[in-house]
Amino acid sequence: MKRRHFVTGAGAMLAGGVLSGCGGGEQPAAGGDQPKMKTEYRWKMVTTWPKDFPGLGTGANLLASLINQMSGGRIHVKVYGAKELVPAFEVFDAVAGGTAELGHGAAYYWKGKSGAAQFFSAVPFGLNALEMNGWLYHGGGMELWEELYEPFGLIPMAAGNTGVQMGGWFNREINTLEDLQGLKMRIPGLGGEVLRRAGGTPVSLPGGEIFTSLQSGTIDATEWVGPYNDLAFGLYKVAKYYYYPGWHEPGTTLECIVNREAFDRLPPDLQAIVRSAAAQANQSMLAEYTAKNNAALHTLLNDHQVELRRFPDEVLARLRELSDQVVAEIADKDPTSRRIYEAFRGYRDQVIAWHDISERAFLNARAGG
Ligand code: CA
Repeated sequence: MKRRHFVTGAGAMLAGGVLSGCGGGEQPAAGGDQPKMKTEYRWKMVTTWPKDFPGLGTGANLLASLINQMSGGRIHVKVYGAKELVPAFEVFDAVAGGTAELGHGAAYYWKGKSGAAQFFSAVPFGLNALEMNGWLYHGGGMELWEELYEPFGLIPMAAGNTGVQMGGWFNREINTLEDLQGLKMRIPGLGGEVLRRAGGTPVSLPGGEIFTSLQSGTIDATEWVGPYNDLAFGLYKVAKYYYYPGWHEPGTTLECIVNREAFDRLPPDLQAIVRSAAAQANQSMLAEYTAKNNAALHTLLNDHQVELRRFPDEVLARLRELSDQVVAEIADKDPTSRRIYEAFRGYRDQVIAWHDISERAFLNARAGG
């Protein structure tokens, strides 16, 4: 059975995804009997973003082009925007099932598979970008993420980070906890659940419907990403106040998911190239968001006279308390989720102590505070 399965798999592999051609100076492909065979892998990447969407879609494009370039064309990745091959929220299943070899999205979209997936994208009052990368690459996070996706036949890789997001756009001032009562806000995921427990009404809307919903008063507030993406959406035209900080998404990691069978068919040098390209894309997106958020905030404040507001301490303290409850409840689902939660929590508590006397102390000192 096993043998037969392998043969069938190999046949399917030749039919879709892998082409062999005779190229100069290449070693024969494993099992091939013709000399100078060059294997070319034609891979599809499905994404949860609109094609070429700034930062996120272009991050997926960068990852694909890095793989194409670094492999000298031995892997050719074609990128599909959301709905071009599969809808946004079917990316995980499409890559797990082999419809595509690669996916680009964010792990919190797959909370239906496991609530613990959310630890690998963003959780309220969780880790910022620097801390996420520390946890994933050198703090044991990556191993846990791989273990979580293993039963689905997927290999996860970090492939981008937006940095700290903004709290969002509001048409109502938030001065006390009372102001959250009945607040209709577009805020998905765990952040939405926290808002609900604080008395608000979270609404889930795709990016394309945010502007008109805020304009028509269907919602009182929305979060999206940060100045770079929010400026592009024109949200300043339909909201009075721009609140910070983005307590609900402190450093969202984007992911690359790879179909394990397809990855296992690659020779070791190409496997290393896919991993290196993801690491490079991860770094590059954070740099892009840092530079472009900075420039876009300047434009919002100076050209569009946006009113910047900080959430009051009382509000942040309550949201933090509720977030701790909501996040801890993920651990109750199953033993794997508990282990991931405890590892995350242990790392977070330690890194808070370190960053208090390093990053925070430096930023305060630089600001003269
Ligand atoms: Ca967001």
